[in-house]
Amino acid sequence: MLNTDNSWHESLKNRITSLPGLIEALKEYDTGITGTYSPAKELELWLAENPEGRRFCLPFAVTRYYLGLAFRAGLQEADRLAVLRQAIPSAKEYSFTPDELKDPLGENKYSPCSRFIHRYPDRALILTADSCGVFCRHCFRRGFSGQLSGALKPGELSEICSYIEEHPEINEILLSGGDPLTLSDSRILEIVRSIKDVRSDIVIRICSRMPVVLPSRITPEFTAMLSEFSGIWMVTHFNTSPEVSAEAAAAVKEMIKAGVPVLNQTVLLRGVNDSSEQLARLFRALLSAGVKPYYLFQGDLARGTSHLRVPLEKSLEIAAELRTMVSGMAMPKFAVDLPGGGGKVTLPDGCEIIRKENNYYYFRGTDDREYSYPAD
Ligand SMILES: *Cc1c(COP(=O)(O)O)cnc(C)c1O
Ligand code: SF4
Repeated sequence: MLNTDNSWHESLKNRITSLPGLIEALKEYDTGITGTYSPAKELELWLAENPEGRRFCLPFAVTRYYLGLAFRAGLQEADRLAVLRQAIPSAKEYSFTPDELKDPLGENKYSPCSRFIHRYPDRALILTADSCGVFCRHCFRRGFSGQLSGALKPGELSEICSYIEEHPEINEILLSGGDPLTLSDSRILEIVRSIKDVRSDIVIRICSRMPVVLPSRITPEFTAMLSEFSGIWMVTHFNTSPEVSAEAAAAVKEMIKAGVPVLNQTVLLRGVNDSSEQLARLFRALLSAGVKPYYLFQGDLARGTSHLRVPLEKSLEIAAELRTMVSGMAMPKFAVDLPGGGGKVTLPDGCEIIRKENNYYYFRGTDDREYSYPAD
């Protein structure tokens, strides 16, 4: 099942990145999808709303593997749509709400050097690559992902390493982006080695959606390379149970065999996973595959994502239901990254809802200041 060559490079290069390409690819499948959502209708709307030259905030790309997941035999319609809605752009992405922000997490002010975010004292994040296998329509890093800044440059890496050296309070480095696994093994090795050379005990967290959107990326060469190190973790981004395919489970198993524990972050998404039953299925499937559900996130206030956001009131209900349905191991921390730089806070316990006023919930951020989030 796992590739022994580097054909993932080809699969990544050949992913679908244009509307005609998508229409062509959809022809291969039975696109007689009924109900409230059809990819064909969505594409028509997109065309109608897309006069020449107008771009979405986030480019479009989907791997053939991921598109194919939506059309596997025996899938229920809700599951099929749960996959498609994450990958196929909607004309609704042109609409911004007043609450939405260009820099939804207020990260700019926490960037001491290029492509580096030091938001929390003991851990920091590197924007290693700007590309992804699938550009997720809900991505909150759309200000960076797909914006053509390319891979981390050697000069930027050495600047970051000097910063890490001067900040011994940092114990953990997140490799994020974009998707770090769009980089070649040798580039990843260079990054991991440079960081470990500065501090051998530092924990490296690889944040990647590749096990979900292109499991063939997890090659024996890649896992063998990582097994040479210790203290490497992976955090994936499975949002719905059909994504936990046999291929994805095999990829995860190879990571675990190489000594890399795998955790998962899920984003609550409207029409994708906004029911406790769907999420319970996902978390059980992840646990069976050896993946610990780590976070369940309320959608960030990224521009053009309102159609995918679950109203916070409903999210709180779903989380409360879930807690009664699945084991403690299967239950992730439910959290919101407070808009404007308030940081990640867990809900509803661990974070106090101060009040609800004018259709906004008010929270205390990790810096003890007040932040709001719309209730619906
Ligand atoms: C989420 C995040 C982290 C990691 O936070 P954890 O709660 O440890 O998962 C680190 N840095 C930034 C900028 C983040 O957004
Ligand atoms: S893989 Fe991550 S960074 Fe890339 S589009 Fe999806 S959410 Fe954004």
